[in-house]
Amino acid sequence: MSDKTIFEMIIDREIPADIVHEDDLCICFRDINPQAPIHLLVVPKKRIVRISESSSEDQATLGHLMLTVNKVAHQEGITESGFRTVINNGPHGGEEVPHLHLHILAGRQMQWPPG
Ligand code: 5GP
Repeated sequence: MSDKTIFEMIIDREIPADIVHEDDLCICFRDINPQAPIHLLVVPKKRIVRISESSSEDQATLGHLMLTVNKVAHQEGITESGFRTVINNGPHGGEEVPHLHLHILAGRQMQWPPG
């Protein structure tokens, strides 16, 4: 696998981020270029490159990421108003960082279909 991703640098505290949650398996911080009033990224500490490269070994981590979305959404007070969770995968998905991450977007009305 190639050099560290920007997210591994955040996990290792080599670059700063506004971290709102951290545990043994994942970290959650605010997106540097927010697309909504609240825009968070939930990132596994283990570098799973993207969801299409995950395997059954990652089952516990993937489940944990979803439960972390729930935890952080409560922490941010966005469960009543609602939020959107997005995983971009590959070129057509709009993926920029090859380290799995779940976006949490909230604080405005989301549209469908997404752009
Ligand atoms: P993707 O397009 O890969 O799904 O999303 C990558 C996200 O990472 C983008 O929303 C982008 O703004 C965010 N991002 C990229 N570099 C940094 C960084 O250095 N710090 C933070 N907090 N977010 C970043």
